[in-house]
Amino acid sequence: MTLALDGRTAIVCGASAGIGLAIAEALAEQDANVVMFARRREPLERHAQRLNALAVRGDLTNRADLDRLVERTLAAFGGIDVLVNNGGGPPRKPALEVGDEDVELAVELLLLSAVRLTALCLPHLRASGRGRIVNITSSSVREPIANLALSNAVRPGVVGWAKTLARELGPDGVTVNSIAPGRIDTERIREVYPDGPGEADLRDIPLRRLGDAREVADVVAFLASDRASYVTGTVIPVDGGLTRGLL
Ligand code: NAD
Repeated sequence: MTLALDGRTAIVCGASAGIGLAIAEALAEQDANVVMFARRREPLERHAQRLNALAVRGDLTNRADLDRLVERTLAAFGGIDVLVNNGGGPPRKPALEVGDEDVELAVELLLLSAVRLTALCLPHLRASGRGRIVNITSSSVREPIANLALSNAVRPGVVGWAKTLARELGPDGVTVNSIAPGRIDTERIREVYPDGPGEADLRDIPLRRLGDAREVADVVAFLASDRASYVTGTVIPVDGGLTRGLL
């Protein structure tokens, strides 16, 4: 099976590290035009140069940066076929310590950024005829994670929005899917295991190891391709079997 993404233009957010960087790599390997968006200029530009991608520096929570991301993508490639909504996670906190401002910031980072950027990209995703939206969420949309109250509270909202959007965009041939990563070996994993994962943590994962960011990215590359043309409205766990729910 080849994914053949040549000629497609993909925006990947949070692309300077971790899962977003691995997604940029996977899409670039399939010859997509990749646009990498993140806050930190040095790693972003270094990796973009390596992947022959376009780097656009900016913050997901800044409207003007999102406008500029879309403008620069269109100026460079003339269209948008794939949007990967991804970025940093909210801070680690138990529910009892969550305040108003924490909730506002988490909604802005996780939900509002995806809603805003998707709206900006939508005319171009529709025009593509095979537009793809992929949201990177978390296993927290299936099972709450201890001490990650903000992720547990806000990410299910992203899935609810995505599922609604999938139904509305289906007639335009635009698919909308979400990935629910389990425990993936990136910087962010310290939010779940501040001291690193212990033996008991790994025993809780049927595959007995953390995932590699590339194992998430390869599922995204599939969803971005024509091979996934009848897949929409889904939440796909990439978690080594961690979550126990039937669906
Ligand atoms: P990471 O911290 O390694 O990388 C996050 C990337 O997003 C970086 O490039 C960072 O610069 C960028 N970023 C952060 N905030 C941003 C902002 N406001 N604007 C623009 N770019 C921003 O994280 P990761 O492990 O790659 O995770 C990606 C997403 O998946 C996060 O939301 C994370 O919470 C979620 N997730 C991760 C895991 C895991 O085990 N690693 C599990 C479930 C969910």
